[in-house]
Amino acid sequence: MENNNQNNENSQNQGQKPQRDRRPNPHRQNSNTPNPNRRPQEGDTQGRNAQGENRPNRKPHPNRKPNPNRNQNDGQASEEQSSNQNRNANRNPNQNRRPNPNQKPGNKPSNPSRSGGGGKGRGKRKNVTTVNAEMRASIDENNRVQEARMNPWKQIDIASKGKVRFTPLGGLGEIGGNMAVLETENSAIIIDVGMSFPDETMHGVDILVPDFSYLHAIKNKIKAVVITHGHEDHIGAMPYLFKELKFPIYATPLALAMIENKFNEHGLKNDTKFFNFVTKRKQYDIGDFKIEWLHMTHSIIDACSLAIETPAGTLVHTADFKIDHTPIDGYTTDLQRYAYYGAKGVLCLFSDSTNSHNPGFTKSEAVVGKTFDTLFDLAKGRVIMSTFSSNVHRIYQAMDRAVKAGRKICVIGRSMERNVETTRALGYVDIDDKHFIEVHEVPKYSENEILIVTTGSQGETMAALNRMANDEHRHIKLKPSDTVIISASAIPGNEASVSGLLNKLVKVGVTVRYREFGDIHVSGHAAQEEQKLILRLIQPKFFLPVHGEYNHIAKHAQTAVACGVDERNILLMSDGDQVEITPKYLKKVKTVKTGKTYIDNQNNLTIENDVVLDRQKLAEDGIINVVAQIAQSNQKVVGKPVISTHGLVADKDDKKFAKEIEVLLETMLLHMKPEALKDHKNVENEIRGTIRKHVVRTKKRYPLIIPTIFII
Ligand SMILES: [Zn+2]
Repeated sequence: MENNNQNNENSQNQGQKPQRDRRPNPHRQNSNTPNPNRRPQEGDTQGRNAQGENRPNRKPHPNRKPNPNRNQNDGQASEEQSSNQNRNANRNPNQNRRPNPNQKPGNKPSNPSRSGGGGKGRGKRKNVTTVNAEMRASIDENNRVQEARMNPWKQIDIASKGKVRFTPLGGLGEIGGNMAVLETENSAIIIDVGMSFPDETMHGVDILVPDFSYLHAIKNKIKAVVITHGHEDHIGAMPYLFKELKFPIYATPLALAMIENKFNEHGLKNDTKFFNFVTKRKQYDIGDFKIEWLHMTHSIIDACSLAIETPAGTLVHTADFKIDHTPIDGYTTDLQRYAYYGAKGVLCLFSDSTNSHNPGFTKSEAVVGKTFDTLFDLAKGRVIMSTFSSNVHRIYQAMDRAVKAGRKICVIGRSMERNVETTRALGYVDIDDKHFIEVHEVPKYSENEILIVTTGSQGETMAALNRMANDEHRHIKLKPSDTVIISASAIPGNEASVSGLLNKLVKVGVTVRYREFGDIHVSGHAAQEEQKLILRLIQPKFFLPVHGEYNHIAKHAQTAVACGVDERNILLMSDGDQVEITPKYLKKVKTVKTGKTYIDNQNNLTIENDVVLDRQKLAEDGIINVVAQIAQSNQKVVGKPVISTHGLVADKDDKKFAKEIEVLLETMLLHMKPEALKDHKNVENEIRGTIRKHVVRTKKRYPLIIPTIFII
């Protein structure tokens, strides 16, 4: 992970953080009843009106009551009629074809004159196909097939007593910090162990790690940690978990290599013995679960979805995904396995909601390469490219352009160097050693022979690019002839630091390539049409939108309803909600403890809650120090008390304020009972209380108040 001291991601706001009252989560949903707020939302209506696709999914459900219009081959005839009749009448001919909803589908051909409800007015029509018994039967048969096809989950044995419970411990109500537990009575698996970023009120906190209390509570039945991919928000908290609890880890090679790097950093070298390298398309028996990793496209390679066979039925978890039909390594999403599981019937789908507000498709990673072609052509001097250090394909694409343009590659930045090294060692990046140079070799080459790949695309203070922009980098001094490509977008909360970086770069005079090239960066997460594709391939009975803040999962739920999932079969969860999933129902059964632990990246240690609370108070309201000697005999201050403040009153008002406090103190002491003066702690508390009241009244502030009292 890059040093992220300046990371202001403010979307992370779960758990036991100070000042929770500022951002209450008004969205917490406590039952499995559909969210009433969802109903009237704009998108919902839009979706229905614009595309008409939602309408039949309500009542009647399209999948249960197929629209006979789809089978209608004589659209011509009905259209002719529509010109002569009103719109309602226009539906009549179609209705003639509608199977009797009360009639159970079967092989027996029905009587067209009765069940079809046709006849009336039909006599007037000429040259129209006659609905005979054979045709009726064919229509019924097709409807039956369609119904089965559209509801594959109906194959699930409803009488099965199997049940599983799913509990997100991070990643809901926030972007990042993904961690969840899937369990039966006897066994449990942890899905991903991610970290997230603090908001700007958590001073000195670098990363947030999910609370592991619930894992401690059920540790005896936990069989494994199951990892979907190597992003920080899915594996970043692994070393912190392993310092408390250890379990076998199942993941693909790149994710495990990245976990290994973390373990090495945290002195957990020996824990690589918990590694289990998985092969995609192979099923692993883990406790009560059979788990298959399905290849998925995303902004990191070797990413996977999970198909999990459980005693209750099959669950599919997309994990982070986009559907890239032209990925750089040629390995597309394993849609075939998605279709396979979908056809067999999936009880519940869990799907990534990060981009659920984006219409259309997320563009392929390949488009960035085309932009790089243009930018490399335009660049006359050095090219400095910055992106997320885990985006292997992005980095590879830049390196590939460099090789073709005869540029040497210099990788700068701790996480970038480490990831490039790892992915090259694993064979995911195939670029010969001869193309790489060390940073001290850069001056040996002419400017148009250099590509620098570096960290800092989020404007992180400590990252290499920011240090270059500040002219603080030991080796690289920026020049006006340089082209800086920022191949990333600001993660919500990082906008200010990215903007600050851009200001500095522009001031130095380099050519900055950022958002004016639309395809300089593409997202790694699915937009609505991709979410729909997954929903349609799986067509699950139950749907749990995951990975996102409440508005993201609510939007994703709308998309699911538009794709035929019954609104009542969707639950909008928050971290800590435990839902029970059986073939019959999906419902919230309880809430478990969740929260965040604060981590200081400088020493990889935990920062206690009260420390962060004190820092917040100091930052927002300042501090008052009172040092005084009090004589018990006459209940008076001996000499002059020392009163100092920081961050509360301006220096010029210091004296005046000190006088106020002094008077306050004297009055308070005179009114105290003599025996109360004997208790040192009590006196300090009284002083604290009195000063607090005064400051709240006069300044509307809540500073830290530290009285140091000597009673003589
Ligand atoms: Zn990811």
